[in-house]
Amino acid sequence: MSWNLKIGEIKEQYLNEQQIWQMFNTFFSPKSKNTMTYKFGLIKSLIENLYNVNENLEVNYYQLFESFTKIYWNLVVHHQLKQSNSSSMNSAVEKVLMNFQKEHRIPNDFKFDKLPHDLQLKLVQQVKKEGNKYVIGALYGDSKGVIYEFDLKKEYMRMNEAVYKFMLKHQKVLTYLTNYHLALFLEKYNKAENTVHMLMKVENVSKRSSLDGFYNILISFGEKTCFYCGKTLDGRTVAHVDHFIPWSFVQTDHLWNLVLACRSCNLSKRDRIAKQVFLNSLIDRNEQLAESNEEVIIKEFKFYRPEKLQDLYHYSIVNGFEHQWSPN
Ligand SMILES: [Zn+2]
Repeated sequence: MSWNLKIGEIKEQYLNEQQIWQMFNTFFSPKSKNTMTYKFGLIKSLIENLYNVNENLEVNYYQLFESFTKIYWNLVVHHQLKQSNSSSMNSAVEKVLMNFQKEHRIPNDFKFDKLPHDLQLKLVQQVKKEGNKYVIGALYGDSKGVIYEFDLKKEYMRMNEAVYKFMLKHQKVLTYLTNYHLALFLEKYNKAENTVHMLMKVENVSKRSSLDGFYNILISFGEKTCFYCGKTLDGRTVAHVDHFIPWSFVQTDHLWNLVLACRSCNLSKRDRIAKQVFLNSLIDRNEQLAESNEEVIIKEFKFYRPEKLQDLYHYSIVNGFEHQWSPN
């Protein structure tokens, strides 16, 4: 049993792509025993945090479990989906979430990002405690110790470089695989659902219900025109918060990947990627934003490097996103 491991070293540093595919195949294979959905949740959280690593490829647990909590809150509370294969028992994380919901009398239709910030903080700490106990060691064991190494006395895990690069490169297909297998599991243990319906729920559990917070930040830093066509934006109704690299690829909201766009640019761009010249403008925009000493900017830019945005641009193209969009 590996779920109660307290420390785990990376077993094999140097793996080639084929070996990593094999590991993920075994991991997703129906033969691999799952009593809960934890490992899918953790892989989703890792994917969300691929661009939140520091130069040593360390991911901090708070950040990781913030994604994890959001995903589980939306699955368990918002969608009322059971996460374990036992009809009589709930997983530790489910118990934490349900008790928290009860204690604070939060209605079922609340998505995670609608909770007040202090409650989010408190809940993430509680989930993190259970996650340290039941999740980190389990995924480590399931992946035969190749994805990351950890020591529960520290506040972060460190990713294996070969696996990290692999995950960047194959991010889209790994996201699909994880969502698909998570949906299959949930379908099996939750009545009256079908895979297509379930998959749609799962695909959206990471999504925020509103990007208004980011809109306010960008406006307060003087963004008054459409990032793409330069048209003046007056008011929230005409300004859209646009994921420069589409959300369907990044699966998360980094301020450094968000711009304000007019309605027509946002709607015409859709799931596509703008031409290289806009990447350069965004790098300049980010450089200016990052100069601010405001707390929110410091937090949002903590792990930002222009090279990360360039990588993300590159990897989205490798993953099949069309990248020649420009405004009419
Ligand atoms: Zn525009």
